[in-house]
Amino acid sequence: MRMVQGTGRGRSSLVGAMVWGRNDRLVRVSVASSAADKTYAVEDAFELEMSTRVLSLDESAQWLMMIAENEGVDHPHLSRAAMSRSLLGLAFVDEWCITVRKKKPSQLLLLHEMAHLVCANQGHGREFRTQVVTYLRRYISLTHALRLHELFVGAGLTIEPFASTK
Ligand SMILES: [Zn+2]
Repeated sequence: MRMVQGTGRGRSSLVGAMVWGRNDRLVRVSVASSAADKTYAVEDAFELEMSTRVLSLDESAQWLMMIAENEGVDHPHLSRAAMSRSLLGLAFVDEWCITVRKKKPSQLLLLHEMAHLVCANQGHGREFRTQVVTYLRRYISLTHALRLHELFVGAGLTIEPFASTK
């Protein structure tokens, strides 16, 4: 497996650097870092606040198939593989394949990897973040999408306006 080609979802080392108030819904990432680490940190905070469902691998494959059909792209192949504990998932664009570490991945993780497959630009930039929010809006809920968008903006990460995530 050409692991090096995959773009994945790692666990942030920045969680400890994040401060968010119990009531004020404020998120600050106090350590300057790469867009990928900041994106992970925001997704981690978001999962704590508004967790998405975890699905079995069969459910995950079916859910991804439904999304792919709706989006007009090929069905991604889903597999599970042993990988570093710092990694949750990988997307292999050339093979159109998503690989996850846990046997019950979260919907957010699946959407994260699906966004990697369809984004022209590899990595965790503006296009990628916009795609994740778009998928949340279409396949989870408007409330989830609005909140993740708000957290990205609050962390100083660029993203298209919410209106363009329909
Ligand atoms: Zn990723």
